[in-house]
Amino acid sequence: MLKNINPISRTIAWDQPRAAYLHIPFCRRRCYYCDFPVAVVGDHARGENSGAIAQYVEVLCQEIEFTGLDTTVSTQPLETIFFGGGTPSLLSVAQLDRILQTLEHRFGMTADAEISIEIDPGTFDLPQIQGYRSAGVNRVSLGVQAFQPELLTLCGRTHSVTDIYAAVELIHQAGILNFSLDLISGLPHQTLEHWQASLEAAIALAPKHLSCYDLIVEPVTAFGRQYQPGDQPLPSDTAAADMYRLAQKLLSAAGYDHYEVSNYGQPGFQCRHNHVYWRNQPFYGFGMGAASYLEGQRFTRPRKTREYYEWVETQKLSISNTPASSLPSSFIPPPSSFQDLLLDTLMLGFRLAEGLSLVELAQQFGKPSLDKVCHCLQLHYEQGWVEVVGVKWEAITQLPSEALPPTARIKLTDPEGFLFSNQVLADLFAELE
Ligand code: SF4
Repeated sequence: MLKNINPISRTIAWDQPRAAYLHIPFCRRRCYYCDFPVAVVGDHARGENSGAIAQYVEVLCQEIEFTGLDTTVSTQPLETIFFGGGTPSLLSVAQLDRILQTLEHRFGMTADAEISIEIDPGTFDLPQIQGYRSAGVNRVSLGVQAFQPELLTLCGRTHSVTDIYAAVELIHQAGILNFSLDLISGLPHQTLEHWQASLEAAIALAPKHLSCYDLIVEPVTAFGRQYQPGDQPLPSDTAAADMYRLAQKLLSAAGYDHYEVSNYGQPGFQCRHNHVYWRNQPFYGFGMGAASYLEGQRFTRPRKTREYYEWVETQKLSISNTPASSLPSSFIPPPSSFQDLLLDTLMLGFRLAEGLSLVELAQQFGKPSLDKVCHCLQLHYEQGWVEVVGVKWEAITQLPSEALPPTARIKLTDPEGFLFSNQVLADLFAELE
């Protein structure tokens, strides 16, 4: 066990965030697997036609404007911005532009900032996607999920397979080169053949990036009420593992780097914004239910609209986007510890194919902590789920930290280590906590 942990505030100079996440919590309907904080607005509400969306944009911009005004620390220009949801493509061009201009005014933006937006098939037309591009959006992520009509219906998705192809055509017509497709494996009644067909259809559309998520049945969702994890018609654990291996095989053969547990990109097209999360770097979160990571502390905003609006009102009076005294206590986590930071760093870094630098781990957490981590992972190393590059496994614990090669890294193997990453992390947490 790691004993006598130190408050990290004594040892770490926190960087100012260069990334911002905007939560746009409106959806036409709620998909049966989704437990995100969203408000259902029906098939016709969008942009300025919806009073709810218009009000939300106002409050969101107020939150941005008041963020960090209490501090004398200068902010850094944003390098990545991500509109997630919800269905951000329910925003009008003017609303999206207003939010971007508010961010620009408050923090600034680098000239090459990555500006991503999640969009759903059937929720936008050509003028809209062209307008997003003119406003600065340079990356879109399309929520496809599956290419089988029966699976889309079964998930409660509002779009058809035809809508998927029409959406990709609009993305091309708008001249947005950098687009990603989202797919889900492990759906009820989904077979390996379905999954292969979806992967092949996605590859044929030549996206620059693909996210392949394995379904997690959350208890509070329609699926959670209907299905027990592991029971039919959900695929068995073995079938779900086969789907994971198949994605790795087909997408790698098609030229995609499997750079993160669930993400694949053509060279040069990894998602820069998500790297901020996986490298445990700070970021702003804005909007209902959004999380921030600032000065070593994570906190999540209220997940209900009215509570979020009340919370923003309190921020105007005091401090915003920091763990302020005015925050309801339920939203403030305990201060992070050295141990929390180590576990977070491992949990996030092991998601990446590049893994973690041994030298950086030793510098940040001390060589004894690194040795302890290696000791905990010995069995997984022998199983072939963990590997090191640039140094022999046995040498890590024998060498002093200054003798570790700068290129030495520890990582999970692909696909087996990634596939069992939850087990590796659970074992690490059990040992280190
Ligand atoms: S569109 Fe996305 S955020 Fe909205 S309900 Fe479906 S899965 Fe959830």
